[in-house]
Amino acid sequence: MIPPKLHELLVEQYGGALAATVEAGYMARPATFRVNGLHAFDAANELAKYGISVRPVPWYGDAFITENAAEEALIRTPFYERGDFYLQSLSSMLPPLYLDPQAGETVLDMTAAPGGKTTQLYSLSGGKALITACERDKIRFERLRYNLARQGATRVTALKCDALALDDAFSFDKILLDAPCTGSGTLSPHKPARFTAEYLAKCAVLQEKLLKKALRLLKRGGTMIYSTCSVLRQENEDILKKCLGGDCISEPVTPFEGLPLLPSAAETVCICPTELYEGFFLAKIKKLK
Ligand code: SAM
Repeated sequence: MIPPKLHELLVEQYGGALAATVEAGYMARPATFRVNGLHAFDAANELAKYGISVRPVPWYGDAFITENAAEEALIRTPFYERGDFYLQSLSSMLPPLYLDPQAGETVLDMTAAPGGKTTQLYSLSGGKALITACERDKIRFERLRYNLARQGATRVTALKCDALALDDAFSFDKILLDAPCTGSGTLSPHKPARFTAEYLAKCAVLQEKLLKKALRLLKRGGTMIYSTCSVLRQENEDILKKCLGGDCISEPVTPFEGLPLLPSAAETVCICPTELYEGFFLAKIKKLK
């Protein structure tokens, strides 16, 4: 059941036909995962030994879609505990790819738990980016630490803190703000939806504060990604409008071929929920020198 307020906002933003497409995409999806680039793991061959077949994702060599197994079956293989792969939705693999962390760069993952994107940033940089990961929730922070350890992301500095309280004297070459949101892109029949106008407004207030903070912590000449798993402009374009200007400008994101796109502001990408993808939004921001 789609919460009535969410339905109303989807129709207002996208029109009836497209809103119906979004709502039809709120469904269960096959298990997807990302191999740990720091491990030599031949996913297709190793998982075949356990009767699990997978297919590659065209836009990312580390990503796979299972064809005949649920997440539980993947978790039961020895590769899971060894950290050879990380269960992750395809859409949520996009922000680290677009941030493109390099060896020696200082990278802040502002709202990091449970750590899918932190461990991906680590893997993408060959373990050589200097990553700081913040999480304010105690239980989720423990989950982050567990996932960092399991994925062998030993050189990540994990801070259990409110990112808004970070000292502005810190500065980073790159920042990922994968903001807390209503999850309007990720509804599914198995996940009870909690969506109200009040919750949306509360998320938007926090998103604006976090993005303004991120822009203060970003070095001159640095880049950042703002992402949410929401398809609503109130949590996406509207937040950018409130925060960008002056030295902080939007940079174009070129969507990978084959991604199911919803209309979104110039230079941003909004993924439509489908049988493979969760709804997701991302924007790239540059702070001028
Ligand atoms: N990037 C994560 C991943 O890929 O695994 C998911 C992040 S989730 C969308 C947002 C996280 O932000 C939640 O774990 C939430 O507890 C955390 N959070 C919310 N407000 C925060 C704040 N002010 N400082 C730090 N973390 C915060």
